Amino acid sequence: MTTALENLPPAIAWFGRLLRRYPRAGRQLNRAAAPFENLTKVLMFGCNMCGQCILHETGMTCPMNCPKTLRDGPCGGVRMNGHCEVKPEMMCVWVKAERRSRWLPWREEILRVQEPLDWRLKGSSAILNMFSGPLLDERGRP
Ligand code: SF4
Repeated sequence: MTTALENLPPAIAWFGRLLRRYPRAGRQLNRAAAPFENLTKVLMFGCNMCGQCILHETGMTCPMNCPKTLRDGPCGGVRMNGHCEVKPEMMCVWVKAERRSRWLPWREEILRVQEPLDWRLKGSSAILNMFSGPLLDERGRP
């Protein structure tokens, strides 16, 4: 997971640098913020707290609800009716993502190739991770 601080507004980039400079405090803040993020995003998007949010690029559809947790598009098993091959009662997350993306001004972002998921960040605040990048302790925990 990379964080392009230069692409963030100056105040947020400054905050991200501050968190990196004091990683222990950054981790504590992240742990404190994660439950609030969890609560709001679970209710709104069915978030699974992967810690590396790409809702913006998936038509505000959480790709972690895919039974195969595919983050780069659908597998080859999507049914003719657009449903999942693993859970036939469920619409494919990526069919939903593509349909919803059509309504967004940044619709082309669904085409972006995603970085591999860093599973160590699961459960942490994706918003703070976006600002600071991963702030892992010596045991690799967020
Ligand atoms: S992509 Fe990750 S952080 Fe974003 S809603 Fe899905 S599980 Fe939550």
